[in-house]
Amino acid sequence: MPFPIKICAVCSEEFELKPDKPGFANRCPACSEAETAEPATSSRMDTFERRHEKEANEARRQAMRDLLYRKDS
Ligand SMILES: [Zn+2]
Repeated sequence: MPFPIKICAVCSEEFELKPDKPGFANRCPACSEAETAEPATSSRMDTFERRHEKEANEARRQAMRDLLYRKDS
């Protein structure tokens, strides 16, 4: 069964739209690869945000501990 031929929305090249093709259905495999390489930036951002959140949680825990100690004394 032949795959449908699509025109890439990015580079205007014809490509076969295979069912297991990663990325967007209107982009050729090469342009899909360029696109999937991008999330590395956002995942690095996620790591930064997660670290930031962890620091915020630790600060909150420290404040909570201070509050408890203050209550004890
Ligand atoms: Zn393309």
